[in-house]
Amino acid sequence: MPRLNFNQQNEVMELLQALVKINSVNDNDEQGNRDQSEKEISGFIEKYLVGLGMTVTRHPFSPGRDNLVAHWAHQEGEKSIALQSHMDTVGVANMSINPFGGGILDGKVWGRGSCDTKGSMAAFLIALSAAKKKNYQFKDKIYFVATVAEETGCKGAEALIAEEFKVDGIVVGEPTMSRLVTAHKGTMWAELSTTGTSCHASLPHLGKNAIYGMGKALSFITNDYLPSLEKQSHPLLGNPTLSVGTVNGGTATNIVPSSCKLSLDFRVLPGTKPEAILDDFLTRLRTAVPDEEFEINTMHGHGGVDTPADSPWVQNLLGPCQKRAGQEGPEGVNYFADSGAFNGAGIPCVLFGPGDIAQAHTKDEFLDLDQLYLAGGIVLDWLEAGCEKSLLS
Ligand SMILES: [Zn+2]
Repeated sequence: MPRLNFNQQNEVMELLQALVKINSVNDNDEQGNRDQSEKEISGFIEKYLVGLGMTVTRHPFSPGRDNLVAHWAHQEGEKSIALQSHMDTVGVANMSINPFGGGILDGKVWGRGSCDTKGSMAAFLIALSAAKKKNYQFKDKIYFVATVAEETGCKGAEALIAEEFKVDGIVVGEPTMSRLVTAHKGTMWAELSTTGTSCHASLPHLGKNAIYGMGKALSFITNDYLPSLEKQSHPLLGNPTLSVGTVNGGTATNIVPSSCKLSLDFRVLPGTKPEAILDDFLTRLRTAVPDEEFEINTMHGHGGVDTPADSPWVQNLLGPCQKRAGQEGPEGVNYFADSGAFNGAGIPCVLFGPGDIAQAHTKDEFLDLDQLYLAGGIVLDWLEAGCEKSLLS
């Protein structure tokens, strides 16, 4: 059951449409920096927040690309809590609808970012707007944070953390079907390489074939490593995984290859250090295949999240999710988000937002209006409770 009234529903719908109409595509670092992907949308959001009486500070990530941190200056609470969402979206190639149309059809707002994650942003902003109109006096300092460059590896959030941004809890806006999510895995991307010795393919015994060497690593992965991952388990996330994404080796059919590389995508359980996972993988591989030389290089990694479900601030947000979204206990998701970066900096995180992750990044991305109203109402319930007592205790 949503609690937003007719006017609030209209307001949040129009807000989401306006956000979708602003192109904030961040397909890769080069394009993002060249187009200053979040420049226009950050201006729009800043204006909205200033309209709510909030003080907004800009935290530069790269020219034209600023993270925004907003709060009400008169707030006096000892503790601080933030609603957060990223401003960028993935690219629009091969979309079957107008990516920046923001039109309404079948009770849905259509366009790039409607689900991931401008819907969360609109739901958070409408709740802040409603709180402002009712002149809520909170026991905590309430912040709103909008980050850049999430889609290219949570780099905006990392830049904000490097500036020692700190709050006592953060609600990261991502499509969770308006349910409270307390856990996701960490990610580690790495490149495994092995070397051999080149020679002419007609005299292969004179060389050492790196692809054969990597074949042994693949057998180790499928026969030994993957089954060992299935023995580990997390109550909300299941087992850690590894997937081989690419294989590259050799230069020509008639040359024995001197090099072969695999790209590896490890999804690790929260609490395990990604570096330790790689060390363990390499040690076991070297033991299993002692006659080959292997090296491993980290490409990038993000930590997981596993916020204790019994912590008071989790329970405070779980209440409205139970009441309005029919949720029982906290849940886990398979994707990662800015939450990994904030959690890595010691900021307790949960994820919450309207819509289904299945619609994120798709060719016809949409957000159900019912979800948008539901999420806005849940956040408003939660903020209202924050006038009675701290949302963190
Ligand atoms: Zn997202």
